[in-house]
Amino acid sequence: MNPQRQTDSPTLTAEARARLVAAATQARERAYAPYSNYRVGAALLGAGGKVYTGCNVENATYGATICAERTAVVKAVSEGERAFVAIAIVTADGGTPCGICRQTLFEFAPDLHVIIADPDGHIRSEYALAALLPDGFGPANLKPTTGARADGVTQEG
Ligand SMILES: [Zn+2]
Repeated sequence: MNPQRQTDSPTLTAEARARLVAAATQARERAYAPYSNYRVGAALLGAGGKVYTGCNVENATYGATICAERTAVVKAVSEGERAFVAIAIVTADGGTPCGICRQTLFEFAPDLHVIIADPDGHIRSEYALAALLPDGFGPANLKPTTGARADGVTQEG
């Protein structure tokens, strides 16, 4: 067993995790993946209890493709939510989030609980985001030395 694997969540019941996996499975149905055929669904649980879903949306240029996890984050943040508890990610083979998504999730929720499941609803693995992105670079790295603020406003003087 992977020593970094975390098998239970301190904050989520089994029922809550199953609901999140079901939402991610449903989102996966809407995946637009004509090039890779690798369909992904994600369901991101906000601190307020609302769930934001996402699917991967590929593009003929490849580079304009966005992953399911980042789709969910962008939807949530654009609706005013910035604090998250957990994310469920559903793929056919139990794939974990790519590096860009790990970084995007870390920006808002360094303590996020990550649930990896398959379309049959089986949870394959669970992680603390910190195990997937050790010593992650985040907003706290910029505050002391550059004067940059988390809200994006430049500090003068
Ligand atoms: Zn990704």
